Amino acid sequence: MRPEGIDRTASIQVIDAPVAARAWVRERNSQGRRVAFVPTMGALHEGHLALVRRAGELADDIVVSIFVNPTQFGPHEDFARYPRTWDNDLKLLSQERVGMVFAPQPAQMYGPRFGTLISPPPVATPWEGEIRPGHFQGVCTVVLKLFQIVPAQVAVFGQKDYQQARVIADMVDDLNLDITVDVYPTVRDADGLALSSRNRYLPAGDRERALALSRALDRVERRYREGVREAGELEASMVEVLRRVGVDSIDYAVVVDPLTLSPFSAPLPEARHGSEAEPVAVALITARVAGTRLLDNRLLR
Ligand code: AMP
Repeated sequence: MRPEGIDRTASIQVIDAPVAARAWVRERNSQGRRVAFVPTMGALHEGHLALVRRAGELADDIVVSIFVNPTQFGPHEDFARYPRTWDNDLKLLSQERVGMVFAPQPAQMYGPRFGTLISPPPVATPWEGEIRPGHFQGVCTVVLKLFQIVPAQVAVFGQKDYQQARVIADMVDDLNLDITVDVYPTVRDADGLALSSRNRYLPAGDRERALALSRALDRVERRYREGVREAGELEASMVEVLRRVGVDSIDYAVVVDPLTLSPFSAPLPEARHGSEAEPVAVALITARVAGTRLLDNRLLR
């Protein structure tokens, strides 16, 4: 007898052809079923699985895509060595209520005459946009394509990639895309490290230094609660922790507007739209430890 987890693999449809993937979603929709979509690059971990479970709360059927998108990597980035763990990914998804996995080959996404690119919204310009030129153009283009191939009613993204989620939400608004964007909080290891497919590059001895990011975010949140409202002072408190714990370099550590990601020209507002629950700012950090680029963020409210 096959173990239960593997048995259920059989019920996941793995589809690589865009036309067939779209037909699968349309068929579910025609039965009156809502479909939720979780786009990923694979190398799945508990963060991805939390998005999948959230998708299950939002819809009747769940679609996950696994595609390491070449066009969002720069020429000197880690596309070739990005972790690919297909068998384990499928095993993990088989333990969730996933109906279809869309896993195309690059040539199925980008034909020989491919050339249409999305110009990303303004929120894509600073921070990651500055350090990784072309990255968000690649992200917007592939996500728009994925939304066309998997015409789901809702798509779930992680707050872990805060700027990416903002970029996609603005693209969806700007282009009147018929899909709702849901953003799910960052899933962390017990010690606070945000889960990431790239964490597996981290040598065990450098994990302590990787914790600098979540510690710096704890510090900035504490300073904010203590009443500090100057972005510069809040940023300096994060940088102090990052340097003390010993990250190799800091790409940015900033406290910015949570919608536009623009720097503040005045002290942080007390509350946005008169609501205590709405974030007034977001702290964004990207730093390098042992050759691995780590991202984390925290909403201040
Ligand atoms: P990736 O496979 O890294 O492109 O990520 C696919 C999706 O999972 C994106 O929406 C990410 O923001 C999200 N994600 C990655 N890591 C986490 C995490 N630790 N917690 C929640 N969501 C995450």
